[in-house]
Amino acid sequence: MKIVAFRHNGQPGVGLVSADLRAVQPFDLPAAQRELGALPVIEMLARGEALPALLASVDLAGVQIIAPIPKPRRNIFCVGKNYFAHAREFAGSGFDSSAKAGEDIPPDPIYFTKVPESVVGPGAAIEMPAASDAIDYEAELTVIIGRGGKGIAAKDAMAHVWGYTIINDVTARDWQSRHKQWLLGKSFDTFCPMGPWLVSADECDGTKTGVRCYVNGEERQNASTTDLIFGIPKLIETLSAGITLYPGDIIATGTPVGVGIGFKPPKYLKSGDVVRVEIDGIGTLENPVK
Ligand code: MG
Repeated sequence: MKIVAFRHNGQPGVGLVSADLRAVQPFDLPAAQRELGALPVIEMLARGEALPALLASVDLAGVQIIAPIPKPRRNIFCVGKNYFAHAREFAGSGFDSSAKAGEDIPPDPIYFTKVPESVVGPGAAIEMPAASDAIDYEAELTVIIGRGGKGIAAKDAMAHVWGYTIINDVTARDWQSRHKQWLLGKSFDTFCPMGPWLVSADECDGTKTGVRCYVNGEERQNASTTDLIFGIPKLIETLSAGITLYPGDIIATGTPVGVGIGFKPPKYLKSGDVVRVEIDGIGTLENPVK
């Protein structure tokens, strides 16, 4: 199933996307829950409850699609340097403050987070900040946790995955490098485009999924999650070893080769650009830069 969050006639909504992607059947939920998008639905399913009742279908083209989880309950967990080719690209860029000299491939997953308020939906502008002119894109397959837990072993981890969405992990490279950690440069307002919806795990195989990114139609990233250094089970095992995971938690699994700083000279984003991320089995997330 695909769960989409939207606004329609000024009201928040969340519902199931039809198989032909032309309609949405809204869930019958109170407004306070609809404001949270798919999050309350994921929580219900994690408790073993049935899906909420459905209302009459609405034309998907007639609603404004927003981020599927527009207000995450806490920071978005993100993995750095998690594709072999991108790790080498980043190590050679001069912006990587996370590695010892000569250490291109991280021996263990590198985690950082983005603040929840950085999330925006499909079509929303990525705002160019006054504080940086080194803004980069990162297309990422993103895991949505279903059943929570702590100390989850890798062999059991996929049973905790509800499904997937797309995140563009927008980054101010100068801030990422200068401040020796990644929270600041990755959490600017609007730096977490998410969408277009959540797709349940039975409709998307995260282990061999195509991930592509285009800027103004020019292909920049085109890879498969087969190039991941640490797969989803290892990522969940590492994260949950000390932190209890909850339904609706969000894990962006890292970006493949082809980011802007991988080019010489770097190809940073600028106002007027349009960034389009495509992931097989999920869909397309497109955002203008303003
Ligand atoms: Mg990233």
